[in-house]
Amino acid sequence: MRYHKIPDETVRRLPVYLRGALHLSKSGAESTSSQQLADVIGVEPWQIRKDFSYFGDFGTPGVGYNLSSLIKQVNKILRLDTGHRAALVGVGNLGSALLAFPGFRAYGFEIAAAFDIDRRKIGRRKAGVAIEAVAALSKLRSRDIRLGIITVPEAASQRIADALVGAGVKGILNFSSRYLGVPRGVKVITIDIAMDLARLPYYMPAG
Ligand code: NAD
Repeated sequence: MRYHKIPDETVRRLPVYLRGALHLSKSGAESTSSQQLADVIGVEPWQIRKDFSYFGDFGTPGVGYNLSSLIKQVNKILRLDTGHRAALVGVGNLGSALLAFPGFRAYGFEIAAAFDIDRRKIGRRKAGVAIEAVAALSKLRSRDIRLGIITVPEAASQRIADALVGAGVKGILNFSSRYLGVPRGVKVITIDIAMDLARLPYYMPAG
């Protein structure tokens, strides 16, 4: 089922709710309230109720949310219930850190392939993943990989995005600061840690 007209901000918060629900579930709780979930993740309870209402309310008035069904439904909405294999391009400082990061597994992601242009890196392994030559990027479709992670220098990022799209990738997590042009039907999310940091002083006491 596809949900239409869901604000991007709501979609952005769903993984946060999922993380909070997983945390509560791991600590032994079977159900939760919007207030308790709000306390765990630092979002207002009304916001949680409003976001969930887009999908038909998950909860029962006076009882709250059953955690296992909440986790199941949010996973389904985000299409995390099937698992996703990703290819990472650019095994430098950032790429290596992402390859070694275990946190992707909680959401069903696996970085199943890694590519680089540097001959000294090709053929080696990083965090258990073999580093391949970028020329092998074209074979992603047959490897069931539809997600790409770009951690190459800015100047190479559009070329890599084109190659990923040509190989059938439909979602790109872009760490380079360049705006990437992609055809319709391909979603790019650009991550910039510096931009997140740039929002922080606004919330801090002056002086
Ligand atoms: P790095 O130089 O350590 O690594 C870049 C890697 O890309 C190298 O291994 C290089 O061989 C490889 N590469 C270069 N051209 C390539 C190509 N055409 N095809 C395949 N591989 C290629 O750099 P880094 O510090 O890891 O940064 C990587 C990127 O991530 C940069 O664009 C940087 O600006 C960005 N970055 C973003 C954030 C963020 O918050 N978004 C944070 C840190 C770095």
